[in-house]
Amino acid sequence: MSTNIAVLGTQWGDEGKGKIVDLLTPHFPIVARYQGGHNAGHTVYVDGRKFVLHLIPSGILHDGVRCVIGNGVVVDAQALFREVDELQDLGVEVDGRLVVSDKAHLILPYHRELDVLSEARRGERKIGTTSRGIGPAYEDKIGRRGIRICDLLGDREALAAEVRENVSARNRIIRETTLDWREVLDQLVRDGDRLRAWVGDVSVILAEAFRQGQRVLFEGAQGTLLDIDHGTYPFVTSSNSTVGGVCTGLGVPPRAIHGTLGVAKAYTTRVGEGPMPTELHGPEGEQLRESGQEYGASTGRPRRCGWYDAVVVRYAVRINGVDALALTKLDVLDGLSTIDVCTAYEVGGRVLTEFPSDLRVLATARPRYETLPGWSRPTRGVTSFDALPREAQEYIRRLEAITGVPVALVSTGSDRGDTIIRPESALSTWLRAH
Ligand code: GDP
Repeated sequence: MSTNIAVLGTQWGDEGKGKIVDLLTPHFPIVARYQGGHNAGHTVYVDGRKFVLHLIPSGILHDGVRCVIGNGVVVDAQALFREVDELQDLGVEVDGRLVVSDKAHLILPYHRELDVLSEARRGERKIGTTSRGIGPAYEDKIGRRGIRICDLLGDREALAAEVRENVSARNRIIRETTLDWREVLDQLVRDGDRLRAWVGDVSVILAEAFRQGQRVLFEGAQGTLLDIDHGTYPFVTSSNSTVGGVCTGLGVPPRAIHGTLGVAKAYTTRVGEGPMPTELHGPEGEQLRESGQEYGASTGRPRRCGWYDAVVVRYAVRINGVDALALTKLDVLDGLSTIDVCTAYEVGGRVLTEFPSDLRVLATARPRYETLPGWSRPTRGVTSFDALPREAQEYIRRLEAITGVPVALVSTGSDRGDTIIRPESALSTWLRAH
């Protein structure tokens, strides 16, 4: 891996990307988010203090690191202001270190209502969104009626016309309440005034950074299986969380991405609806949930838990060109007598090794398991591969073999220090050099 790397999720999100990004950030002067909204929730512990960041890259917790929010992100200005205020209360300076793309679309006051309404309409078929207006903001973007940050800073008449049209469309959909477009406009103008100091042309800023030889970490939110194109559609997020999103969401060329680190949990979780072949419904699932504290960082919703699914991670490796994996939460498996790993699916008597496109096929897929021995000595806080119990080492080696990609980093606890970086990995060589 040479200069810029992308760190992204290889499962259904919540893989622990926050900790990995946080760990790598000292090696990068710039961290850039390329998609998603404030539905992402990175939980990071620094010296025992808990930070939950939704929109701003966790790089902000490191002195001097510049953080970029790309055009592929949808921005709820109020949510951004809250985050900035909280960081400033904790003594973290944001001004001068945060850049928000002038091309990013805004989440408008009524997008949240539209989100709730759309979920209610779907009834049983609901997606399980976080109801923060992110989907409707992306719908408006694709529908070519969205409002971008540069619109707030430009011609006031043009903005007023856009807002009037959008609000009247919203009022036709939500008939119970009527919004006054003038109030929305006033709010947007105020938001624009506060945003102004952070707004910039991200593509220009990054191109300049590349010219100066500054390294950039591209930070993905959610995971591959939640990608709008490659995920388990329709139970997905509304953006491209896979590596292609880096180019479109920041305005950088493919050659600016020199390596991809995929983050995978040592087991599988997902929030929201939709099939999950390795889900465990009984006490085993409950145990993973409790020991992994698998509750959403943004919503507190319990996550569905199950065994590691190599079909899923192999798929993510292919889609993203993952060079190496960061395997997280190994310690959560401590104390289990045996651990299953899904190597393929069985569908109607056929063996499937590639992840199916059709959700109905996925819904009937039965995991084909390989059972590996567990370990009794705790791995929590272990910092070298050799110090892991033999069975845990075997487990990791087996995951590498079935997934077809090396595990460069293993996380054994939520703290920065609870980390193994394999000395023989390309990542380790790279980190020593930079
Ligand atoms: P993200 O969105 O991918 O960053 O994932 P989340 O932040 O939602 O979830 C990760 C959670 O797992 C956070 O609470 C982390 O502190 C915690 N975590 C990360 N790595 C480890 C680990 O190796 N072991 C344990 N026990 N917890 C971890």
